[in-house]
Amino acid sequence: MAKRDSLAAFHAIRFLQSVPFGVRPPADRGREVAFAGRSNSGKSSALNALTGRRGLARASRTPGRTQAINFFDLGDETRLVDLPGYGYAKVPEALQRQWRPLIEDYLQHRDSLSGLMLTVDCRREPTELETLLLDWCAHSAMPVRLLLTKADKLGRGEAATVLRRWRAWLAEQGRTQVEVQLFSSQTGTGIDEAREALLDWLNFRQKKAPA
Ligand code: GDP
Repeated sequence: MAKRDSLAAFHAIRFLQSVPFGVRPPADRGREVAFAGRSNSGKSSALNALTGRRGLARASRTPGRTQAINFFDLGDETRLVDLPGYGYAKVPEALQRQWRPLIEDYLQHRDSLSGLMLTVDCRREPTELETLLLDWCAHSAMPVRLLLTKADKLGRGEAATVLRRWRAWLAEQGRTQVEVQLFSSQTGTGIDEAREALLDWLNFRQKKAPA
């Protein structure tokens, strides 16, 4: 699919609903793809770059929405979902405690969830939080794509080494439903590849293909 056509999928994207702990999410129909990642991992930048909408993730940063699951409507029963960033020290402990059941319940029980994009700064090692998220996804055989963000911060050789190390780490744990790639919202590295995966999960091609 040409890049322009791929971006057209996000043309009508609009903020749908912010769902804090204890609030009922939008109807669990159609397909949606969620984005998760540690705070400052480049999740918002990735969402903006993949959709071609610079201000998109700002909607999730509005006061009151930062610890909620934020849903964006793409039309035709498809959605993007911005999960609250984790590991942010400034968030009060009570809210941090709500993060776990909120995300765990969503990842394990949301029928329309078709895939998870997980952003990790490429200069960081995997932590127990990534392991936890991958475990929840494995529980429901959820496909995951790990975006190793800010790849522009590494030289080419270094980036290749990092990618190899992550692949080895995933293989060691038998995580066959997890893909991993380099990503930079700044230079464009890996954006097309990630966007194609996103559209596949949303079944966009099949839906838009001529009859
Ligand atoms: P979030 O908290 O996970 O949503 O992260 P943001 O998208 O807000 O990014 C956190 C910081 O990393 C910001 O200062 C961004 O400008 C920076 N950043 C995000 N993506 C990239 C990237 O691809 N390359 C570089 N060099 N910096 C990035």
